[in-house]
Amino acid sequence: MMKCSVCGNPATIKIERHRAKFCEYHFIEHIHRQVERVIHHFKMFTRDDKIGLAVSGGKDSMSGWKILSDMGYKVVGIHINMGFGEYSERSAEIVQNFSLKENLELSLYKIEDVLGFDFATAMKVTRKPPCSLCGSLKRYILNQIANDLSLDVLATGHNLDDESAFLLGNVLYWKEGYLRRQYPVLQPEGNMVKKVKPFVRLTDDDMGNYAHVSGIEFYSGKCPNARDVTTYIYKDVLNGLEHNFNDIKTHFYFGFLKHSHLFKEPSLDVSIHKSVHYCPVCGYKTLNEGKCLVCSIKEKVSSDLSHNQ
Ligand code: AMP
Ligand code: ZN
Repeated sequence: MMKCSVCGNPATIKIERHRAKFCEYHFIEHIHRQVERVIHHFKMFTRDDKIGLAVSGGKDSMSGWKILSDMGYKVVGIHINMGFGEYSERSAEIVQNFSLKENLELSLYKIEDVLGFDFATAMKVTRKPPCSLCGSLKRYILNQIANDLSLDVLATGHNLDDESAFLLGNVLYWKEGYLRRQYPVLQPEGNMVKKVKPFVRLTDDDMGNYAHVSGIEFYSGKCPNARDVTTYIYKDVLNGLEHNFNDIKTHFYFGFLKHSHLFKEPSLDVSIHKSVHYCPVCGYKTLNEGKCLVCSIKEKVSSDLSHNQ
């Protein structure tokens, strides 16, 4: 029988990379400690701040919501219904039920109510692949909501598996711009709110186990638009490595963060070639010269409408 490394009672969860076994009570305590360590180390937020957590309905953000709330942080869940049929309806329902069951504050939005156009319209007027368009629009919406609700900081459910998989992809293709921005804290700039990833010490398994022991119902349906499988491939590679080299994902990701100044050397700094712009209409940061993606979609939509009248 496995014994809890803390109290010696029967253990139900084993965390290989920490060479530890836990009973449910001490597993939860361990998870809270890991999250607190990240929040504190990266000076993400305090118990006085109003935190917005983007909740998709998946295991990471649902577990993260309860973790932050149980740790005494003031957190409001923000869910965006992107209008992808059954998938979006189920996600919204799960998020809503959980907020009622656990008495957690929730703000729910539909893409068209925030932006004035829906996803299908945005697809028609841009040439971006669906996943990248969806990501850009969600980031824009979340930032706008954070400003509207006067939040101090915006958090997402990204975990160690997500971040080390992104890192692997960014290193394999030497995506300097992404490497420079891949940090668990992005400071506020103009009307761009501070963004944080408090769960980067937890894995997919930790988040799944947390949901399980806390009785959290989450949605594991796949987005009907998602065609990109590269993240899964990178996650598999890293888990294969982890099997042979204990705690290699933590080592890889946190080692990168420790050395991230190397990616800020002037010679590697793409920002000197491509400077940061602010959209002249909404003031949000954009890589385009001129209007940002959302404001250019709005412009095209309104000119199409006036042509059709
Ligand atoms: P994903 O890219 O789907 O793994 O999502 C990464 C993170 O983005 C999640 O952990 C959430 O914090 C956030 N997120 C994704 N989809 C939504 C959504 N529809 N509404 C709010 N937040 C979301
Ligand atoms: Zn214990």
